[in-house]
Amino acid sequence: METTTQQRKATVQCPSCGRLNRVDLARAAHRPRCGHCKQPIALDRPLHLSDAAFDRVVADSPVPVLVDFYADWCGPCKMMAPILDQVAAQRMGNVLVAKVDTDANPMVSQRFGIRSIPTLIVFRGGREVARELGALPAPRLNALLDSAIR
Ligand SMILES: [Zn+2]
Repeated sequence: METTTQQRKATVQCPSCGRLNRVDLARAAHRPRCGHCKQPIALDRPLHLSDAAFDRVVADSPVPVLVDFYADWCGPCKMMAPILDQVAAQRMGNVLVAKVDTDANPMVSQRFGIRSIPTLIVFRGGREVARELGALPAPRLNALLDSAIR
């Protein structure tokens, strides 16, 4: 299932200016830059997703999107942060790892019925394919992704 030689364009939100950019996941290691503000868009760490950008990013992704619904005041979410960083780095180009701040983005949180955080949802082709509630250790998070990819 590896398609590293093909172009795999994803839409991601620039972490600096928030504008949407098309990036080629096959060239993720080349540190793409935002077409608007020229700041680097790092794909080896979680991307932040807003209410406004959510549908575009999730629907356009050629690879599964792991979304962490979190809040800054949530202790277990803080435990998840380094694990999400690790998964984003290890699976760069094959999975998009994204974070939704549930306080700042109530619309998407409400739509997916997020009642406890962290909630981790895997999307494929714009549709939810897997969900886990609560902080997960790295092996379980990887297993969740593997189950969604099969
Ligand atoms: Zn930008």
